[in-house]
Amino acid sequence: MSDTKDDPPKPGTPEEITRKLEDFIKNSLGGQVLFTRVEGPGGSPTETPEDREEEPPSPEVDLSPIFEFRLKPAEIKEHLDKYVIRQDEAKKVLATAVCDHYNHARIIRAHRDRGENVEFSKQNVIILGPTGVGKTYLVKHIAELIGVPFVKADATKFSETGYVGGDVDDLVRDLVAKAGGSIELAEHGIIYLDEVDKLATPSGRLSRDVSGRGVQTALLKLMEETEVPLYAPNDMRAQMQMMFDTRKGALGGKAVINTRNILFIVSGAFAGLEKVVENRVSKGSIGFSAQSKERPSGEGLMRQAETQDLIDYGFEAEFIGRLPVRVVCDSLIADDLYEIMKRSAGSIIRQFEKEFGAYGIEARFSDEAMKVIAERAAQEKTGARGLVTAWERVLRDFKFELPSLGLPVLEVSGQLVNEPSVVLELCREAARSLSNDPRTHQARDFCERFKAENDLDLKFEPDAIHALLERCEQEGATVHDLCARLFKDFPFGLQLVVRNTGSRVFSLNRDAITAPDAYLSDLVAKSYRDPSEGGARS
Ligand code: ADP
Repeated sequence: MSDTKDDPPKPGTPEEITRKLEDFIKNSLGGQVLFTRVEGPGGSPTETPEDREEEPPSPEVDLSPIFEFRLKPAEIKEHLDKYVIRQDEAKKVLATAVCDHYNHARIIRAHRDRGENVEFSKQNVIILGPTGVGKTYLVKHIAELIGVPFVKADATKFSETGYVGGDVDDLVRDLVAKAGGSIELAEHGIIYLDEVDKLATPSGRLSRDVSGRGVQTALLKLMEETEVPLYAPNDMRAQMQMMFDTRKGALGGKAVINTRNILFIVSGAFAGLEKVVENRVSKGSIGFSAQSKERPSGEGLMRQAETQDLIDYGFEAEFIGRLPVRVVCDSLIADDLYEIMKRSAGSIIRQFEKEFGAYGIEARFSDEAMKVIAERAAQEKTGARGLVTAWERVLRDFKFELPSLGLPVLEVSGQLVNEPSVVLELCREAARSLSNDPRTHQARDFCERFKAENDLDLKFEPDAIHALLERCEQEGATVHDLCARLFKDFPFGLQLVVRNTGSRVFSLNRDAITAPDAYLSDLVAKSYRDPSEGGARS
């Protein structure tokens, strides 16, 4: 943390900065360094006035997402529903808080333009919930939808001194980087801090307590309103950058970031908080027929957490006071994990399909396979992260071997997830019989002849070979006759592509067999649109 927040450093003249830098380096390195003075505004010996004139202007960033913000909470939730399964309460609460926040920003700006001042209290949010259930995913998608910069960090990396782990002010500077250098956009960004529960300092635990409390205080300042120097005062590289930017005139007069309109979202698992709540609730029920009352457990208790519970858990009252919006994310059971694979637009299954697809392999995931994996992943107790682990174990060897086997399709069945090595052996056998099929050789012969005649290199991807053999069977044609017919116009069409892209290698997928004319005209059109793309797969 800097102690300069109240009085942020001004850039100063280049001479002043050079002097400061000189002192800083000498102090840091014990005066053992010979420091060569950098030239003043007249320029360094290697820099010409022309060079300086060509410096890029300060970034022009579109601020309309903020100042013309018009989204409604239900629209944000609808967007989140595409990606995030469950967590309805969190979606609603976050969507509402975010809309309030950016409506405030718009109103403040409109009033400021009329010379008036309006005050709103900020809707910083605290999310309680276990790991891997979609907390980050929610915040990331909200930021993307609105078009504001978003920075995430774990609270555990910060220390009170700001040197050992990291400086909380860096979060704000990172926002500027995410905002493409625009301070104004960064001043309306979102900072998301996970693992804040680790900053709690319950009486009894000492050493880290001090640091945790210090970080809470530092964060508190950011969440209220402070000005963070754009260039970290204790970072030599940042100071040198400031010097260069000042000389270039790229600073535009503003070297601080005001945190007043930055939205803070913090989260954590808050293990043990339910006990604190339970204690309070049970104390409150003494004198009544306590044993007859049904008490909620786990997440139900978390939902009942009050400010005092969080203070008892180990937070400073002021820190909690700056986080007025509180919401709980549920843990995910096996059924939810199955839904994530099946329905989420960002599902890991879509990713696997693309990864296999890159080798021309169509991976088909059966419901049965996904259900088995969902059960396994749920046992990991790491939320949706367990899915990646569970799938990785099953698919690891397939991802390694299949691209070289030349098979067009991978059926990811219940059998595959239960007996991966048996199914992999079956794949190897199928590949052997495919490559021993004389028609596969005939297809390759066709490519060789095509190359000799046209100086164009055709390569059939595995799914193309498969489709070719299927078509031969359906039409009772030989591979040679069918290829000659399908690729009759390719020599001429592909020459156009060569002219545009320079590429002479063409790898053909299934579409090239099922609809060769459309495939070719697509390739030609694309080569005109984007000549930098080679003539490979469409
Ligand atoms: P955390 O709650 O620890 O912040 P993340 O949001 O980082 O967890 O989740 C990790 C990954 O798991 C996400 O990137 C996403 O792919 C997936 N995921 C987690 N929860 C959900 C959910 N509820 N719906 C869809 N995908 C999810």
